[in-house]
Amino acid sequence: MGKSVLIIGGGGREHAIAWKLSQSEIVKNIFVAPGSSAIGEVNKATNIILNIKNFQEITKFCKDNNISLVIVGPEDPLADGISDTLLSNGINVFGPRKNAAQIESNKDWAKEFMDRHGIPTAKWKSFKDATKAKDFINSASFPALVVKASGLAAGKGVIVASNKQQACLAVDDILKDKKFGSAGETVVIEELLTGEEISVLAFCDGKTVKPMLPAQDHKRIFENDVGPNTGGMGAYCPCPLLSKAQLDFVQKEVLERTVTGFLKENIDYTGVLYAGLMLTPDGPKVLEFNCRFGDPETEVILPLLETDLYSIMTSCCDKNLKCQDLVWKSNLHAVGVVMASKGYPESSSKGQIIKGIDTVNSKPNSIVFHCGTALKDGNLVTNGGRVLISVSLAQTLIEAAINATKSCDIIKFDGEQHRKDIAHKGIARSILLMGKMTYK
Ligand code: AMP
Repeated sequence: MGKSVLIIGGGGREHAIAWKLSQSEIVKNIFVAPGSSAIGEVNKATNIILNIKNFQEITKFCKDNNISLVIVGPEDPLADGISDTLLSNGINVFGPRKNAAQIESNKDWAKEFMDRHGIPTAKWKSFKDATKAKDFINSASFPALVVKASGLAAGKGVIVASNKQQACLAVDDILKDKKFGSAGETVVIEELLTGEEISVLAFCDGKTVKPMLPAQDHKRIFENDVGPNTGGMGAYCPCPLLSKAQLDFVQKEVLERTVTGFLKENIDYTGVLYAGLMLTPDGPKVLEFNCRFGDPETEVILPLLETDLYSIMTSCCDKNLKCQDLVWKSNLHAVGVVMASKGYPESSSKGQIIKGIDTVNSKPNSIVFHCGTALKDGNLVTNGGRVLISVSLAQTLIEAAINATKSCDIIKFDGEQHRKDIAHKGIARSILLMGKMTYK
């Protein structure tokens, strides 16, 4: 009998998860709370209204609808313990328990954890007291510093300061002015790392951890990585900036150490373990862990996955990932270009009519995932900062990048903005690798 699943969330990441699960022969019904109008159009998918902060309500829905697996998209419900409630009611959930989700929701805890288990990361110190934090900054030997609110701040709690004065201002913003509320009761101050940023997401069952193909996000709003940080303006996969030797290093020194660390500390981890890494001159170092699929990486990783996603997720829940092969479409590359609304990331403009998506979706190897759209008076309109992501698959990275970017010229809405250099660093590296030039 076909299985019913429930996905929590409604952005581009959840659209991609629903799209991939809809291809599973095992899955019959995909419920998504809250979903979106675009997710509602995915084969087998139905949007449902549930209070996603009310875990008892979700539990009741799961029992009433014979849900065999819950997949949690965003970090907040995980940090609040959704998995603990579901598991205690006998419901399978792909996503870690509250104590394990601390790896993302409590940066101070995560840094301590990394140090306890020898996981490479930036040097750091944490403070609750602004004066002590500023004394540390003024006496630190590193010229530039990163100041982070320790808790969840919707991706906005990290300030990369180019001098000590800016770092001190960031401390006051977080600790004194409470810019991020209770997420900023503690600040973590780190040395600034330099290099390329890469995302390695992995499936994890608590004992075994298997990486997905590496991807690269583009955090800054403007081309050539300038301007303010965003939720991510585009991504590509696989990312050739990470060599095989570096990937092996990440597997052993980051992913396996993390899982062994969890085991030693009696922490059960089921779900995606996402390592945000900096490829520094001294080797890959962890910038942050996330306890769930990343957005926009998921939208370029899952289209390359050959294996049934439901099977992988349930093998994680069954603590049997060891026996599960991960097969990838090894002849393909995926590039996703985010189209954002006017004013993003400072603000966002809602209600602009969007045209051209059907034309792009009818092109072979092209798919548009919706991050922030809505239906209004029969029109598809913008409904957030990041509106959608145009993904193309092709045999080469350059072809995928050209197609994904060209699709953005077909899709129109007022005030639209997107980067035209998504995947360019990967393309440059691929060209050099073809020429067999060597890298250190
Ligand atoms: P996080 O949420 O901790 O990943 O930080 C968000 C972004 O801030 C990262 O994607 C990096 O671009 C930047 N960042 C964080 N920590 C550091 C660091 N120690 N050195 C340089 N950049 C950093």
